[in-house]
Amino acid sequence: MRCVELTSATLSNNVNEIKMNTFLECSGLMGITIPKSVSKIGEGAFYECSGLTSVIIKNKGVVVGVNSFRKCSKLTSVSISDSAIIQEGAFGDTPYQSLRWKNEGLCERCGGQFSFLKKCKNCGYSVK
Ligand SMILES: [Zn+2]
Repeated sequence: MRCVELTSATLSNNVNEIKMNTFLECSGLMGITIPKSVSKIGEGAFYECSGLTSVIIKNKGVVVGVNSFRKCSKLTSVSISDSAIIQEGAFGDTPYQSLRWKNEGLCERCGGQFSFLKKCKNCGYSVK
C-alpha cells in the first residue's frame, strides 16, 4: 500500500525539487499546485496517480522529469508555461497529452515541442 488515502497535498514554498517517485501511485490524489520554488519534478514523481485530474505548475522554467506524470489516466488539465522543459514520457499515457498534441501540435509521445521539420526536439519522434 502506497498512499491511497492521500487526497490533496500542499507543497511549501521552500521546496526546490519533487524527488523521484515521491507521489508514486497515489491514486487518491485529485489535484496539485506546484509552487514557483519547484524547478524540477523528479523522475516518476507522480507516476500512475490514477485519480489526478488537474495540475498547476507555477515555475516557468520547470523541468518536468522523465515519466513524472506518466499513466495519470484521468489527467486532463495541466497549467504549465511554454518554456517548461518536458522530458521524455513526462505526460505519457495521459488524456492531457493526446489533447495537447491535437490542439497544439506537440509530440504525441512525450509532449515535447516539434521543430519546423516536424521532429520532436525532445525525443526525436517525427510525424509522418
Ligand atoms: Zn517527443
